[in-house]
Amino acid sequence: MSTDIELNKSDFEETRYSRLELIPWWNQELLHNSTVMVVGAGAIGNELIKNLALLGVGKIVIVDMDKIEQTNLTRSILYRMKDVGKYKSQAAAEAAMEINPDVKAICLNQNIVTDIGLGVFRSMDIVLGGLDNREARLAINQSCYKVNKPWIDGAIEVLNGFARVFVPPGPCYECTMTETDWKLINKRKSCALLTHDEMLEGKTPTTPTSSSIIAGVQVQEMLKILHNDRNLPTLAGKGYVFNGLTHDSFVVEYQLKDDCMSHDLYEDIKEMNWSGRETTLKTVLSQAESELGEGAVVEFDRDVATVANCTCGHTKDIFNTVNRLRGKDIVCEKCGKSMQFETIHTINGEEDFLDKKLYEIGIPLYHIIAVRKGMKYAYYELSKDKNEVLGGLFE
Ligand SMILES: [Zn+2]
Ligand SMILES: [Zn+2]
Repeated sequence: MSTDIELNKSDFEETRYSRLELIPWWNQELLHNSTVMVVGAGAIGNELIKNLALLGVGKIVIVDMDKIEQTNLTRSILYRMKDVGKYKSQAAAEAAMEINPDVKAICLNQNIVTDIGLGVFRSMDIVLGGLDNREARLAINQSCYKVNKPWIDGAIEVLNGFARVFVPPGPCYECTMTETDWKLINKRKSCALLTHDEMLEGKTPTTPTSSSIIAGVQVQEMLKILHNDRNLPTLAGKGYVFNGLTHDSFVVEYQLKDDCMSHDLYEDIKEMNWSGRETTLKTVLSQAESELGEGAVVEFDRDVATVANCTCGHTKDIFNTVNRLRGKDIVCEKCGKSMQFETIHTINGEEDFLDKKLYEIGIPLYHIIAVRKGMKYAYYELSKDKNEVLGGLFE
């Protein structure tokens, strides 16, 4: 029997995303075109990355510098016994692409506080945190606010947890910090130059159940923020607090602190054909002078240690950012004592090391450099580093 009605095959065939697309405000193409950074590939990070892959978020950047241990396997859906010893970020990226081949995931086995340039943050649509320490949260927070990107923090302990959403120019993570938070951060900083292991703030008991609840809330908030043209209510400037013992949960609202130090905004960022590996301090300074006039200075967002001096008279070059220095870096080779080091964070042209390249003094690749004359600022992105740092993601 024949029929005159021509049936469209696609009316019957479901795709991978058909059930998600039943949601009235859902835009699968938007998710496919989104770029999301996940910082931390531990208990929460695993759940975040799993969700992003299932949902078909097109580009995922995973930052973590640790390796997988057997103890991770009770809380990490992306890792198997055979992955023990591999980098978390790499195993997580591979697993994400296996879950969903529509997804491109890359890994950065680097320290979020010291190694990730602001250009990376600027390339993201949103940043998700699965972290266990305040210093990393503060670093993400400052970076996101500088380049005007929202970020969503998650934290868990035993059966409890919370998810907090920070959208510039609203209240930020630093606005929520209490005196105790600062004491704990400063305590870590004053035990200057700790090793990486010592930096980890003790070991927190966590479960795969609370991590999936909190990461689920984080990713749902991300979905709403990405679909920002749909006017869905979000937790921007608020925190969702979950008590797993009683299953009480509530939302707290944060206040914007006027004197908060994290609200710096880099406006009118210029994409320069510069690489941190090639571009010298002199080049940046002369660009600054040609744009802002004589007397312009380069102003780094971190302290740079230049030389170290010992009481025994020995002197040596350091040239690295202070946040990257470890105790062994400033031990005197002559007498074994700890040396004092000199730091700078502006360059005015009088330095005797202007031929040094940005990377040689510890500035991360694909960073954004601020220059200033009086209160007038300009911002230069090391855009030539993009491919090396985010290799393949945008090809
Ligand atoms: Zn703030
Ligand atoms: Zn010495």
